[in-house]
Amino acid sequence: MAENKQYDVVIIGAGPGGMTAAMYASRANLSVLMLDRGAYGGNLNNTAEIENYTGFKKIKGPELAQQMYDGATQFGAEYAYGTVTKVELDGNLKKITTDMDETYTAKAVVIATGSDHRRLDVPGEEDFSGRGVSYCAVCDGAFFKNKHLIVVGGGDAAVEEGVYLTQLASKVTVLVRRDELRAEPIIQAEAMNNDKMEFIYNTSVTEIIGDDIKVTGVKTHNNKTGEEGKIAADGVFIYVGNIPMTTSFTNLNILDDQGWVKTDDRMQTAIPGIFAIGDVRETPLRQVATAVGDGAIAGQQVYEYIKSMN
Ligand code: NAP
Repeated sequence: MAENKQYDVVIIGAGPGGMTAAMYASRANLSVLMLDRGAYGGNLNNTAEIENYTGFKKIKGPELAQQMYDGATQFGAEYAYGTVTKVELDGNLKKITTDMDETYTAKAVVIATGSDHRRLDVPGEEDFSGRGVSYCAVCDGAFFKNKHLIVVGGGDAAVEEGVYLTQLASKVTVLVRRDELRAEPIIQAEAMNNDKMEFIYNTSVTEIIGDDIKVTGVKTHNNKTGEEGKIAADGVFIYVGNIPMTTSFTNLNILDDQGWVKTDDRMQTAIPGIFAIGDVRETPLRQVATAVGDGAIAGQQVYEYIKSMN
């Protein structure tokens, strides 16, 4: 039979927000578990360098993840591996089910599951995933030394990770579907000054093509002229935005019509004792700094909530 463990608070997701909530709640003497389907750090582990997190001029994503983890666990917060499949209400308590053997009961839950990369949904994307199609420059960039790479997207992630890839690749071609980038001006400026970066606008990818082994290029469509084309490349990095990781919470009726979790400014969802923070939340800005701020508020609000239960 599945073992049940009890905590004051279970935090689902151990990214920057989850780890901050864990630090605040455990420092307030609550028993805290962070549950994650992978390594702690979340999207920090896929980020080469961060230069807009206060206190650090520049820091590597995985290094910041480790420092946050050390901070989160210093007051006794625990971390466990497992994908949460369901959260159910049991009177005042919350029952958390995972794909591992354990189930958990908690007085409060903090949803900090973040977001996943959005797929392009074009032919070849799935077939060549891991054979030239990637969503993570830090993880896979090293396989493409001196090769020609395509980056799809025009936001902060596409442009920043494209610049990172120029350290490895011979050339990086960014395909932007509109006639302008969405990325912040400072991120754009660095890219425009990089000789290895090329931008092709008004261009969508319609198919990722390859041979028996790996990607050889993409088929394109010009959104202004309607012209179809082909670009040869050794790899395709896709950065076309994010989708919320909330499929396990649909039963709770706390999501907006796009799947992000709705909260008030105290990170409280419509269900007392269930909080949500960071990228998974309906929020105007998704950054490490905002996730950390949300986490601090939630950690403190969890303490207030549990105190009010007694
Ligand atoms: P994003 O800001 O949502 O940008 C997505 C980009 O992909 C847009 O250029 C969008 O085009 C394009 N796109 C969407 N669907 C597409 C499709 N089917 N085909 C081609 N292009 C498509 O996503 P993001 O860049 O991943 O960033 C996500 C969040 O993380 C943002 O809040 C961002 O600010 C944050 N972030 C911040 C930093 C930083 O501060 N250094 C770094 C990385 C990410 P349109 O413009 O036409 O919609």
